[in-house]
Amino acid sequence: KALPADPVQGSARRQVSGACFSYVSPKKTTNPELIHVSPEMLNDLGLFESDSKSDVFLNVFTGNDVLPNTKPYAMCYGGHQFGNWAGQLGDGRAINLFEIEHKNKSWVLQLKGAGETPYSRTADGLAVLRSSIREYLCSEAMHHLGVPTTRALSLALSGDKVLRDVMYDGNPAYEKGAIVCRTAPSFLRFGNYQIFASRQDNKNLKALVDYTIKHHFSHLGKPSKETYIQFFKAVSEHTLKMIIHWQRVGFVHGVMNTDNMSILGLTIDYGPYGWLEGFDFGWTPNTTDRQNKRYRYGNQPNIGLWNLLQLANAIFPLIEDAPALEAILNQYKTDFDDQSLKMMRVKLGLQSEIENDKLLIQDLEDALQMTETDMTIFFRNLSHFEKENHSEGLEVVRDAFYISEEITGSIKEQWNNWFERYASRLKEETLLDKERKEKMNAMNPKYVLRNYMAQLAIDDGDKGNYNLIDELFQLLKQPYSEQPEYEKWFAKRPDWARDKVGCSM
Ligand code: AMP
Ligand code: MG
Ligand code: MG
Repeated sequence: KALPADPVQGSARRQVSGACFSYVSPKKTTNPELIHVSPEMLNDLGLFESDSKSDVFLNVFTGNDVLPNTKPYAMCYGGHQFGNWAGQLGDGRAINLFEIEHKNKSWVLQLKGAGETPYSRTADGLAVLRSSIREYLCSEAMHHLGVPTTRALSLALSGDKVLRDVMYDGNPAYEKGAIVCRTAPSFLRFGNYQIFASRQDNKNLKALVDYTIKHHFSHLGKPSKETYIQFFKAVSEHTLKMIIHWQRVGFVHGVMNTDNMSILGLTIDYGPYGWLEGFDFGWTPNTTDRQNKRYRYGNQPNIGLWNLLQLANAIFPLIEDAPALEAILNQYKTDFDDQSLKMMRVKLGLQSEIENDKLLIQDLEDALQMTETDMTIFFRNLSHFEKENHSEGLEVVRDAFYISEEITGSIKEQWNNWFERYASRLKEETLLDKERKEKMNAMNPKYVLRNYMAQLAIDDGDKGNYNLIDELFQLLKQPYSEQPEYEKWFAKRPDWARDKVGCSM
């Protein structure tokens, strides 16, 4: 699939105008070593485990060899970072190798951390083991949770040292360099369209939108104003769907800049993301966003809309129909209300729709935030609730509370009141307790990649022990199933890990 080409080759840092991408070569590494390969991703690509054991695999997916007749490239994009237009960003440390078609699906294989590109700006184009473990484990875990996401094929050490500032003390420190091979049908982001709009380059804007429709939204038909409107509508719907999934499982992305918004509605760029432990709409894992909390859990749907507005502005020159675009953005708001209500009903095991559900859900969300309550454990254990036994409610979810003391007084009253209402609501349903439990457990994961779990895998990984990476990888393949051998991972965050989240560098 040829993209409109950039005639200039090489990785010299520069403003790249009039082109979607630049040809680059991955950096050769000193001593590459594969740490982990995803069997599911191999399978989706039509590859076998034996393929992953070959020298070719090792060398290609660490950037040391380029397959014949392929031309690796880095893409040009811009973006709004934390609400401000940041100009050209681009693949500063991502290099697209080639595409694989298998079973009617096409995958781009991309290295993250394989050296500098024209878009590296002041940084080195490299990635460290810590952030690579986080991306590798989380993206595959999200896939198994049923959340639209970019995937990961492999995690490797480069054998090179990478200079990074250690957080907090400011001393420079070397870390192990690593390379993840990521995959997705496309890595195009909102920012890929924005960069052309910002440069008033309508020719390339149109070329890229037409390319996107032809390859990824072909059911919309031939390019026309109407097709572009439908394209925007589809992007809006995919984006909302993805964010509703995030809200359902308690995933907080942390850097929803427009350059981190996939045009296919895939979760992309696993940087300072985090998982909700205590349910809290105001929580963000991103330590650089602790003031404004722009990307906090409860604000993700709004930011999705804000980002879509930027995309609408970017493709406006091709459409020139503001009311049509505004109608789609308004629809996002309505759909968000509908779909989040639906999603919460499912989490609560409610099948019918009753007017008052909204209030029941709001009151639950209030209660959850009153005492620090672990989101994953709460919803998972709520499935044990029996409608004839509502006074046992607090007992059923006891393990989800972070405070160790008994819950008493007005908070206890508030909870008991909620469980009583929940019980009478459940009596309007036809499902038996047992049947409801099954349905709830298919939607409320038992195991997620808690921030401290990734951190433990990183600590071991830094010492050259990769057992925990594999254990978490296996665990997170079946996040909705009971896995008695892994019961220790169905537990609250330990005290030492409070407020410790990884970072994105
Ligand atoms: P992010 O905050 O991860 O979305 O990254 C924002 C921009 O910085 C993107 O253009 C990245 O490619 C670029 N970037 C991040 N880390 C590096 C790095 N180590 N070397 C080069 N570019 C980077
Ligand atoms: Mg990014
Ligand atoms: Mg990043």
